[in-house]
Amino acid sequence: MSDGNRHERRNKFEKFLTGRGYYAVIVVALLAVGASAFAATRDGMEERNKLQQEQTPLVEFQPEQEVSLPQEGVGADEREPEQTEPEEELPEETLAEPEEKVDEGGEPGAAEEAASSSVVTTPPALSAPVPGKVMNPHSRGASVYSETMQDYRQHDGVDLVAAVGDEVTAAADGTVDGLYFDDLWGEVIILSHTGGLKTIYKNLSSELPDGIRPGARVTAGQKIGTVGDEGMIESSGDPHLHFEVEKNGENVDPADLISF
Ligand SMILES: [Zn+2]
Repeated sequence: MSDGNRHERRNKFEKFLTGRGYYAVIVVALLAVGASAFAATRDGMEERNKLQQEQTPLVEFQPEQEVSLPQEGVGADEREPEQTEPEEELPEETLAEPEEKVDEGGEPGAAEEAASSSVVTTPPALSAPVPGKVMNPHSRGASVYSETMQDYRQHDGVDLVAAVGDEVTAAADGTVDGLYFDDLWGEVIILSHTGGLKTIYKNLSSELPDGIRPGARVTAGQKIGTVGDEGMIESSGDPHLHFEVEKNGENVDPADLISF
């Protein structure tokens, strides 16, 4: 009975090997091989990396050298006609640019301002609003003693000798931009001109000529008022016109623009 049982077990094992069990054994064997291969891969990673690093430069250098050499050979014939085409275009461009530069003039900064403001905003030439000489000059930012106010302060204009009632004229074509009476300065007129220029007339009489009102257009030399005596701030000196100039909102010395 026992032999018969062993025989039956062998038959079962043989059937197992020849049946599904055969494949199971193969799978187990493959897994074992795979595990060992994985272990081997780990060990070989560093060596493989070294090999790749050594091989990579060789792979990169070869195509560059091989590709660049034939390009030079082939492109040599093609580049000669390409260079002749721009040579024909360049002279046309270089001829056009100097013509514009010559018209603009030598000074780059002045040329840009003139180009951007050549039509409307060119500052006009100014003329003296009264014929008298300068009795007190512009202080150019320095503080000077004021006999009337008995303190030191800037003098932001020129005082021009004139008698009360003398005619005051517009220094250039412009528009009446401001017109008001000030307790310290008497009647004040502000004219705006092209080029960001403004002329300011202080110590005028409050009796103004007809047509002088805010927004009115005036022409150079036109009478805009008369010298007054109502301004208090400079009343201790001789009668005069206090005259200021602004350029782009900044007070400037009128003597820089007008020969008094
Ligand atoms: Zn003054």
